[in-house]
Amino acid sequence: MLKQVVIFIAPPGAGKGTQANLLAEKFGLVHVETSKLGEAKIKDPELVKKDPEVAEAKRLYEKGELFPPPWTTKLVIEKMRELASEGKGIVFSGSPRTLYEAEHELPEFEKLYGRDNIKIFYITLSEEESVKRNSERRICEKYHHPIPRPEYDPKFKDITVCPWDGSPIITRPALDKPEVIRERYKVFLRDTAPVLDYLREKGYKIIEINGEQPIEKVFEDIVKYFEA
Ligand code: ADP
Repeated sequence: MLKQVVIFIAPPGAGKGTQANLLAEKFGLVHVETSKLGEAKIKDPELVKKDPEVAEAKRLYEKGELFPPPWTTKLVIEKMRELASEGKGIVFSGSPRTLYEAEHELPEFEKLYGRDNIKIFYITLSEEESVKRNSERRICEKYHHPIPRPEYDPKFKDITVCPWDGSPIITRPALDKPEVIRERYKVFLRDTAPVLDYLREKGYKIIEINGEQPIEKVFEDIVKYFEA
């Protein structure tokens, strides 16, 4: 088990979730998906009633918007403190996505894990490939495991439950329409790309990985940085 923090920054569909799951499994890290942290709170009616921040996050979520960055940051730091106290390593696939998150999360990550134990990967992907991969993409209900397309591997063609946890396979028609994916790609360039510049300025090494390659090859390129 590695006591490290791994961060994936990439446009939609580059394979953050896919690679985070593979890495978590190989090295015994905990995969923290920010959207799931938020959903756990807004689905708790008691919390929604007593915490105005949670109520506001629920309202935005239901409109299809992102959670407010300060709220995301708070959830991430809370989760990270809990896992750090248990001596666990973490792989993040959904944060930092904005400068606000990067500025507030990284100092905390450093305090808990040390700068040398933070690895940041930037997985690159073109807009066209992003649209192709994400259109009507299938994920599982329970852990959001991304299900590869049948053209990619025929064993995924007729399955109706997740091969990893057995929960039903769902699509997210509102999020994964081509025009919405193009918008999410633009949001990546506008809000998330500056995070990479910020981190470089702060002296972090950003490891760039070619996300256009097959899943196994992307993973191989990532794993190399854990064996060096
Ligand atoms: P992200 O978390 O970056 O949005 P995901 O890991 O959810 O990306 O992957 C999005 C979709 O693309 C999923 O259906 C996944 O199976 C598929 N996918 C991920 N990586 C690759 C790859 N290298 N080649 C082909 N398809 C991929």
